[in-house]
Amino acid sequence: MPMDLENKVALVTGGASGIGRAAALEFAELGARVVVSTGSNVEGGEETVSMIRAAGGDACFVKCDVGSEAEVSALVAAAVEKYGRLDCAFNNAGIGPDGVRIPFGPLTDVTEGNWDRIMNTNLKGVFFCLKHELIRMRKQGGGAIVNTASIGGLKMAPGFGAYGPSKSAVIALTELAALENARLGIRVNVVCPGPTVGTRLMDNNLASNPEEEALLKERVIPMGKLGTVVDVARSVVWLCSDYASHVTGQALSVDGGMHAQ
Ligand code: NAD
Repeated sequence: MPMDLENKVALVTGGASGIGRAAALEFAELGARVVVSTGSNVEGGEETVSMIRAAGGDACFVKCDVGSEAEVSALVAAAVEKYGRLDCAFNNAGIGPDGVRIPFGPLTDVTEGNWDRIMNTNLKGVFFCLKHELIRMRKQGGGAIVNTASIGGLKMAPGFGAYGPSKSAVIALTELAALENARLGIRVNVVCPGPTVGTRLMDNNLASNPEEEALLKERVIPMGKLGTVVDVARSVVWLCSDYASHVTGQALSVDGGMHAQ
């Protein structure tokens, strides 16, 4: 049996760029109809949809700030209205210090505003998505959800402020949702990427710290190379597929071995 997601409907948050865009393309490649969503980068979200359509797939765009429960509820409703059901969800929208949009610095420098921005997107956003996706999937009697955490949620990196705590909490939330829904045909897992290129997050980070890439390759990542968005996206579609039918509550590291150190 080849891995496919034929006749499935997949929702991707943070689908305007980086890992989310790559996952949306992989979902479509495997036959799923894809609801691409993002908060402010509407142009990027629409571009992802165009890329899927150009490759012969079926996708639509819905704008949604994951930090708003009303918008998340409307997003899930829009997906079901458009395609009739919701089989797979990738709760991936996230922000963190990248030295451009949010500075790096010790906890003593973290402002209340940046703490709230990160927590509202990375943690509350995943909670809202999980809640409304689970309500829908419970009605249908099944589904598969993948959240995005980070190596930063498994090992604390000084200077990352609220980011590490927000991603640790996403792993905890994943385990809770997996346990509560294990007998209802709904699997919930989380991917923990290491430094991943082809994303605004990492590319801004590397641009603002010119020595960072060599340091990561030589000293930090056991495999000696940075991850790509496709590396992460393929793990996500695998977790959503029947190939992972007995996998739930799992935190899957896609980090070139960093978590093992
Ligand atoms: P990215 O900046 O390219 O993508 C982030 C996406 O989230 C964008 O589409 C953006 O529009 C969207 N987004 C941000 N705030 C939002 C909001 N409030 N509502 C809806 N959408 C919102 O970076 P990326 O690396 O692809 O990020 C995807 C996920 O991967 C994030 O959760 C990030 O924390 C995680 N991650 C990234 C790396 C890395 O090295 N790039 C490593 C570990 C984890």
